[in-house]
Amino acid sequence: MDYFTHQGGALHCEDVPLSEIADAVGTPVYVYSSATMVRHAQVLRQSLEPLADPLIAYAVKANPNAAVLATLGAEGLGADVVSGGEYRRALSAGIAPEKIVFSGVGKTEEEMALALEGGLFQFNLESVEEAEMLSAVATRLGRRAPVGFRVNPDVVAGTHAKISTGSAENKFGVPFADALAAYRRAAELPGLDVQGVAVHIGSQLTSLDPLEAAFTKVGMLIGNLRDAGHVITVADLGGGLGIPYNSDLPSPPSPEEYGAMVRRVASGWNVRLVFEPGRLIVGNAGVLLTRVIRVKPGSTHPFVVVDAAMNDLMRPALYDAWHSIEAVAPHGSKATVNVVGPVCETGDTFAMGREMDTVQPGELVIFRTAGAYAAAMSSTYNSRPLTPEVLVHGSDWAVVRKRIDIDRLIAADAVPEWLVAARA
Ligand SMILES: *Cc1c(COP(=O)(O)O)cnc(C)c1O
Repeated sequence: MDYFTHQGGALHCEDVPLSEIADAVGTPVYVYSSATMVRHAQVLRQSLEPLADPLIAYAVKANPNAAVLATLGAEGLGADVVSGGEYRRALSAGIAPEKIVFSGVGKTEEEMALALEGGLFQFNLESVEEAEMLSAVATRLGRRAPVGFRVNPDVVAGTHAKISTGSAENKFGVPFADALAAYRRAAELPGLDVQGVAVHIGSQLTSLDPLEAAFTKVGMLIGNLRDAGHVITVADLGGGLGIPYNSDLPSPPSPEEYGAMVRRVASGWNVRLVFEPGRLIVGNAGVLLTRVIRVKPGSTHPFVVVDAAMNDLMRPALYDAWHSIEAVAPHGSKATVNVVGPVCETGDTFAMGREMDTVQPGELVIFRTAGAYAAAMSSTYNSRPLTPEVLVHGSDWAVVRKRIDIDRLIAADAVPEWLVAARA
C-alpha cells in the first residue's frame, strides 16, 4: 500500500504531481511519501497488538535521511543503528536514547563510548571479543552497558545470498552452540548488564518459515539461559520481512501474518520484544524519479537511457533486484526495452527485456519501491552529483537533501603543494 497514484493521467506522490518536483529540483531525484511511511509504522504496530509495549526500532541504514527519521520518530519509533554516525543521526532527529539499539559486527571503542555516554536501550553484541572490549570501555567511563548477544541460529533465509545473515557461514552473530558460554563470560565481565537475546537472519524474506525457525530457537535459548541463572528481559527479533517489488510475483507475508506468528511463538517468553524493521517501513514509500535522455537502438531491444544510474540506485547491480519502472505520464502503449543508466559499467543496467510504458526522450519515469537501501547506498561514481531527496506531505513538499553538486565534490579534494608548484 502506497500513496503514488495516477490522478488525471499523471503520477502523483500524495497530492503533488511528480512532474512538478522534477521541474523544480531536476532529475534524478528521490521522492518519499510521508503518509506511506506513517501508515506502515501504524500497520506494523497494530499487527503486534496486544503485545505489551514492543519497541519498534527502525533500521536506520534503510534510509537515514533526517526528515525520514523525524517522521518515524514522531510516530513513536525507536532506532536500530549500526554505526556512530547512525547513532548521532537518530539522536539529532529527536529519537530518545532509551529507544536506540546498537547493532553491528564491528563496533569500535569510539562508537561504544559515544553510545555509553549518550545512552541507549541495548548493545547487540556479536562476539565474546566485542563483549570484552565493551566491558573495558564501560569500566573506563564508569558506565554500565545493557547488552544482549545476537545469536546466529543457522537457518536458511531463502533470500539473495548478499542479504542472508543467519546461516552458520555468515559473519553475523554468536554461533548458537556457543551462546551459553558467551553469556557465561559476559556475566563475569565488569560493566555489562546482560539482559537480552537478539536475532536477525536476513532481509527481504518472502516466507515466515525461516523467521519462525529462528524465533523458536531464540525461545529455547531464553529457557536455557534462565536455567543457567541469567535474567533475560528482552528478545530482539530483528527485521527482514520482505515487501512486494514485483506485482507479478506472490506477495510476501503481510505484517498481520507476521504479527500473528510472533504472538504464537513468543507467547510465554515473558520479555519485552524488540523489532528492527527497515525495508518494511520505508521501501515502497519512495520512488526514484528520472528523465529519459535518449532511446538507443539495440540488437534485440532498444536501450532506454535514463539520467539515473547505478550510483543513484545500486540494488539492481548489487542484488539483481527488480524495480517496477513506469512512465509518469503514460501514453497507454507498451514496449519491450532495456533500461540503463549513463555510467560506464555493464552493471549499470536496471532491466533487460522489460515490457513497460512506451517512453520518449525527455519524458519522466519512476523506479518504484526505492525508499529503502536506495538513496542510502548512493555514491558519486563517475563524478555524478549525489542525488537529492524530497519529502512529500499531502500537498506540501520539501527538499530534504540537496543535490551535492560537482563544485562541492571538487572542493572536497585537495591538490598537494608539490603539484600546485609544478603547475605554476
Ligand atoms: C539491516 C538490518 C535490519 C533491517 O532489515 P530489513 O530487511 O530492512 O528489515 C535489522 N536489523 C539488523 C541487525 C540489520 O542489519
